[in-house]
Amino acid sequence: MRKTKFAVEIGCSDGRCRVPAMEWAQQHLGVEFVDGLNLPGIVRHIAENIEPRVTVVREDLTFLVNGHSVDHVFIFDHSQCLGNPVPNPTHLKQIAKAVRRIASWRIARNVHGVWYSPQGLTGKGPWRSTPVSFAALFDDMPIPARVA
Ligand SMILES: [Zn+2]
Repeated sequence: MRKTKFAVEIGCSDGRCRVPAMEWAQQHLGVEFVDGLNLPGIVRHIAENIEPRVTVVREDLTFLVNGHSVDHVFIFDHSQCLGNPVPNPTHLKQIAKAVRRIASWRIARNVHGVWYSPQGLTGKGPWRSTPVSFAALFDDMPIPARVA
């Protein structure tokens, strides 16, 4: 696989996600920089195919992937979301749907899903300072890692 410096994050605007998203990408994808497509509650819009945002994201993603030779795109979703105030299990289902939709666009080679919750998956647990890979949590719901 070619080594590229950039990944693209598609995630919420929430400022608590910026540093964790960048650190996750640097640690797990081996990239130096993270281009962000960030809008409030964007994961729900992609999961449920809500226009006009889906088209905007698709066009901007194409631009960034081509311009920065991006191999890895990742969804970064989180708990306590102002733009998408649904229970955590709903977020996890939305991540899976959003990852599958983005993979189906065949814009980038690899599409990942990442969940970040400062309270753990139950909302009652200890602080989880490290984001977790969605695929690692849900082996029974395989993520299409390679699409091209
Ligand atoms: Zn949010």
